[in-house]
Amino acid sequence: MDRVYNFSSGPAMLPLPVLERAQKELLCYGSTGTSVMEMSHRSKMYLEIYDEAVVLLRKLMDIPEAYAVLFPQGGATQQFSAIPLNLLTGSGAADYVDSGNFAFLASEEAKRYGRVNVVASSRADQYTYVPALEKAAFDPKADYFHIVANNTIYGTRFDQLPDPGPAPLVADLSSCILSEPYDVRKFGVIYAGAQKNIGPSGMCVLIVRKDLLGKANPLCPKLLNWTVLADNDSMYNTPNTFAIYMAKLCFGWLLEQGGVAAMERVNIEKAGMLYDYLDQSKLFKGAVQQASRSRMNVTFSTGDAAKDDAFVKQAAKAGLINLKGHRVTGGMRASIYNAMPTEGIRALVEVMKQFELEA
Ligand SMILES: *Cc1c(COP(=O)(O)O)cnc(C)c1O
Repeated sequence: MDRVYNFSSGPAMLPLPVLERAQKELLCYGSTGTSVMEMSHRSKMYLEIYDEAVVLLRKLMDIPEAYAVLFPQGGATQQFSAIPLNLLTGSGAADYVDSGNFAFLASEEAKRYGRVNVVASSRADQYTYVPALEKAAFDPKADYFHIVANNTIYGTRFDQLPDPGPAPLVADLSSCILSEPYDVRKFGVIYAGAQKNIGPSGMCVLIVRKDLLGKANPLCPKLLNWTVLADNDSMYNTPNTFAIYMAKLCFGWLLEQGGVAAMERVNIEKAGMLYDYLDQSKLFKGAVQQASRSRMNVTFSTGDAAKDDAFVKQAAKAGLINLKGHRVTGGMRASIYNAMPTEGIRALVEVMKQFELEA
């Protein structure tokens, strides 16, 4: 069977050369005679893979030495708990921007450990935009300021990073990491579940400014404690060795594509093709406000659930799968991360045109 264009929000498409390389190395990695899955995480051969993953990510994102690069388990959601447990220990208050479902869940989890100041919210408007921020609403004593830079479910993004003042910026980049250059120096903490733009699910990429280590709540579980992870190179217990290996392959592929700046150019073009079509379509409408449009998750609908359903089915027949929107939004969502080729977008626009003609 041929591979399809998979518009899943995550676990999402991986670059074909990455999968082929993993397939080639699956039974026997290099001259080791074993699969990566069968290697001790403490072995020299595995540590080379691990170190290369860190080196490649540092290179791709230009991560300064002042930041630790960690690969914890538990996806991005685990960090919703780890963040307050590691950082909410000064004033005990944190600022959160409520820009979507994951942002909301992150703030709800933080409430279990301290005071959460929701500085702005678009919840009442079904998260159809990223809310404007007023400095006056920020807590000047906040231990940190939390955002979700790209709202995966709704298809919105911050087109400018907020300046939280003295509080470190803590950002969930799960669905936009490596899709465009981010200046790591502007952040205290970056975290991202791997299954959108990096590799298999279950793993998280965590980048922490080192001066933020050592502040954890004494009740913080050891595996969530960033200092413990940093002191043990993410290997306090057995890490997700295979996911880290896959991430390494993906990072290598990204560098071959010209790195993150080159990816951004392609991603702007890809998203632009879809939004251009939506803006002139008489049938399909974009679901969010123009100024907040995501480049990674394009949400749209016909305004008629039965037609949406028919479209999703027709697209699937043409080999374009997983276009159904999230269960809370309905409609359609095309997740178009780095691994989605421009041809996939072209094919999607063709199917939309065809459907519109026949509607
Ligand atoms: C997917 C996603 C999550 C959840 O990731 P898990 O790995 O399932 O925990 C959190 N935040 C954002 C922005 C996401 O896109």
